[in-house]
Amino acid sequence: MKLVLLGPPGAGKGTQAKVLSKEFGIPHISTGDILRESVKAQSPIGLKAKVYMDKGELVPDDVVIEMVAQRVAKEDCGKGFMLDGFPRTAAQAKALDGTLAGLNRPIDLVLYFKTSQQTIIQRLSGRRVCKNCGENYHIKNIPPKVAGICDKCGGELYQRVDDKEDTILNRIKVYENTVPGIISYYEGKGILRTVSGDFDVDEAHDYLSKLFVKEKLK
Ligand code: AMP
Repeated sequence: MKLVLLGPPGAGKGTQAKVLSKEFGIPHISTGDILRESVKAQSPIGLKAKVYMDKGELVPDDVVIEMVAQRVAKEDCGKGFMLDGFPRTAAQAKALDGTLAGLNRPIDLVLYFKTSQQTIIQRLSGRRVCKNCGENYHIKNIPPKVAGICDKCGGELYQRVDDKEDTILNRIKVYENTVPGIISYYEGKGILRTVSGDFDVDEAHDYLSKLFVKEKLK
């Protein structure tokens, strides 16, 4: 199963991807996660990307396209994969198709998580992440047992710089400017399916499970 999860930040793509990745035994590839790891490691890509990420701007296409091309060519993607946060521009979508055609691993479906602005702001502004293991929490929806501490590893929870209100608004603006080109690209190929990003975790999972049966992916 080769999927692209498309939608604004805070749509719940990452949460669904984690669950589906376990269920189907295929890797969850989040470009945001890979870039944050690179920033943490202070690699040349990380140092370049940080400037854009802190402002909620997109990292240049050439950087992320190459990063994903290398990742999807790995052996563990042979059975399938889930791309989360990529593509984010029409140029990325086209480059991805080129890479996947070369590997004979074309995308089966693009799941578009259509989400209200109110949900995006509520989810992102309350999100907290573990500094140590990267686990996600939400101060109201998924609170840790002890405030500020990760249930899994005891690490300290923090708020991502780009989850502050001003940056959230910029990320939504960037998303709204770029997403129509990607949607029409995949609609033209007949592989776009819409899911409500306003669903809670279980509702979205149920919806997707039925969709996979209907699409004969399961
Ligand atoms: P995310 O965790 O998906 O919200 O991504 C966090 C940040 O990483 C974004 O705001 C961008 O700065 C950068 N980023 C992630 N994926 C991409 C992409 N496909 N193209 C450009 N920038 C990206």
